[in-house]
Amino acid sequence: MDLIDIGANLAHDSFDADRDVVIARAQAAGVGQLIVTGATLAASQAAIALARARPGVLYATAGVHPHHAAELGPGELPRLRALLADPAVVAAGECGLDYFRNFSPAAAQRQAFALQLQLASECGRPLFLHQRDAHADFMAALREHGARLRGVAHCFTGEAAELEDYLELGLHIGITGWICDERRGRHLLGLVARIPAGRLLLETDAPYLLPRDLVPRPASRRNEPCYLPHIAATVARARGESIEACLAHVATATRALFGLALPPASP
Ligand SMILES: [Zn+2]
Repeated sequence: MDLIDIGANLAHDSFDADRDVVIARAQAAGVGQLIVTGATLAASQAAIALARARPGVLYATAGVHPHHAAELGPGELPRLRALLADPAVVAAGECGLDYFRNFSPAAAQRQAFALQLQLASECGRPLFLHQRDAHADFMAALREHGARLRGVAHCFTGEAAELEDYLELGLHIGITGWICDERRGRHLLGLVARIPAGRLLLETDAPYLLPRDLVPRPASRRNEPCYLPHIAATVARARGESIEACLAHVATATRALFGLALPPASP
């Protein structure tokens, strides 16, 4: 299998005790490459350190999640610009808008998002985008930013109209184990078939969003990149594709968007 987890929060402290084991378990499951999400300046720095230690296997994003938007003032821009210039960084984000909990005030979120859209285009990085309960403002910010958008709407959980909006903007769509959730993810089973080959990407969002239908159910609630094959199988089935055909176009699209090399040959 040739699987790439485009959204793994491996810098999260829930992996501090066994990060190497988690990565080895992912590789043994066929997940040969992972993009480590940076959600704050410090976490982005940590993601870069992880990626540097495992070139060709781990990559990083650098950005400030909307929950932390209030931390990104003009004074922090030089640091974020430097992080984005690091060769281990393959995307700007995660950035976007999240009005579900409003951990940062909406106005601060919009400002931090606009700054990061600007930085991403300055440094030529694709976007790693997060949006929850903020679709209209999110679309307005992206449209204002320009016609040529490269990036992924990560952890897509929306309805058909949102999906059409993102596809029209040229975005890729990241699907997580949300699709395995019989309470709130059913609609995604119908929607994933509408994502053209070449625009579909896969991710776990570990340690969050443990797929609810894993058998046997893991004792820990922690999600791990080694469960990506389970998500991929669900997505392929919903699209009416063989797992091989699905993984082939997903891997090609992922490497093209983020500029990833092929994984190092396994020993
Ligand atoms: Zn997110």
